[in-house]
Amino acid sequence: MDILPEETPVWQYIEKTARSVAGRFGFSEIRFPTFESTELFARGVGDTTDVVQKEMYTFTDREGRSFTLRPEGTASVVRSLIENGRCSDTMPLRLYYLINCFRYEKPQAGRSREFFQFGTEVFGSASPLTDATIISLAHTLLSELGIGQGSLHINSIGCPACRPAYREALKGYFSAYTDTLCETCRSRLETNPMRILDCKSPVCREIAAGAPKTIDHLCPDCADHFAALKTYLTAEKIPFTVDTSIVRGLDYYTRTVFEFIAEGIGAQSTVCGGGRYDGLVRELGGPALPACGFAMGITRLILAMEASGVKIESDARPLLYIASMGEAAKAKALEIVAALRRRGISADCDIVGRSLKAQMKYADKIAARYTLLLGDNELAAGRAGLRRMADSTQTEIALDDLAEFFTAEAAYRSEASRTEGL
Ligand code: ATP
Ligand code: MG
Repeated sequence: MDILPEETPVWQYIEKTARSVAGRFGFSEIRFPTFESTELFARGVGDTTDVVQKEMYTFTDREGRSFTLRPEGTASVVRSLIENGRCSDTMPLRLYYLINCFRYEKPQAGRSREFFQFGTEVFGSASPLTDATIISLAHTLLSELGIGQGSLHINSIGCPACRPAYREALKGYFSAYTDTLCETCRSRLETNPMRILDCKSPVCREIAAGAPKTIDHLCPDCADHFAALKTYLTAEKIPFTVDTSIVRGLDYYTRTVFEFIAEGIGAQSTVCGGGRYDGLVRELGGPALPACGFAMGITRLILAMEASGVKIESDARPLLYIASMGEAAKAKALEIVAALRRRGISADCDIVGRSLKAQMKYADKIAARYTLLLGDNELAAGRAGLRRMADSTQTEIALDDLAEFFTAEAAYRSEASRTEGL
């Protein structure tokens, strides 16, 4: 995926905000390879999921081994913890990642074949306090990005204790519709009937609307867990709706599942999806370690920010542009600019050899906040005209005072942007 220079400021802003919120919640970053053995995803994500059956980018290497570009992050994180012996670290283990993922899907608004996720995982806690905490993290990030009213949908899909009875109830219900279900769902009836609840075909959706609900088949422990989660969310003042249609597309979920849905961004409106996956670490060869997490799609966050009218300005705008005339002045401009940059100030000058007029045009184009005119006379006098572009006011300044002036100006601007969110 190409992300062009005018688009990167909003990406950087989201990444910075995500890191900041994750840090406040006690999460550390983890990084891991772009591809893993295909087996990891087949087992970790689930053989019967759409991701594994239709969406993976799989290739064989020179030794004939099968690898897959990561379609998501969770399986890799779990693999990494097991491989690096981290499953006996002090718990809870709180991790986040910012990664690109690959899925062979039909590209459309909010869906691409390479996409980016901000994800979090917490290991070593089965308590609903943890589910409430990661939901709170997602909620905090969404509001800091200005996507205030993304709505939270939660559900519980039970555990291995309550799942078998529920599967039977589902099978019983859907068998009456064998002729009407889509072809894929007909085979899901045997392999994984819960997947039918996630089918996008309108016919299957209509049938699924009347299907038995997971929350009516929870075992007492799962029911208590779900009730406690609702109490904690209410305590944290995070509004939610129980949405029994949410089952999530990956096989490893148990108990809590949730999504944040954004308004006004089209059909692909789930900006964040997550839940609990208490069986995954063991499934992938580690100890029985409960866990939960979520992943957000960055492109969808951007669409949601746009829909909410949030604008992120590029910080590539220089504070000062020095327009110069003559060899000596050009060299002096380079010298001043280099000194300012070393002091942390964004400054620029002609590096193309443009005429003075063309330099002034360029300064306008890059929206420099100040311009300084430097020619032989100015060099001789050690003073030059400094123009503030916002209102075209011009003052004279000694070249030796530039560093001090712009240090103060940069400090003032950074303070203003912190307090006014500019
Ligand atoms: P969807 O139902 O939208 O396909 P999913 O259940 O496949 O979502 P997850 O695997 O839970 O999605 O991924 C978490 C988040 O990553 C999604 O909520 C979405 O924001 C984002 N995402 C998933 N697939 C894509 C994609 N192909 N392009 C862009 N973003 C994506
Ligand atoms: Mg999908």
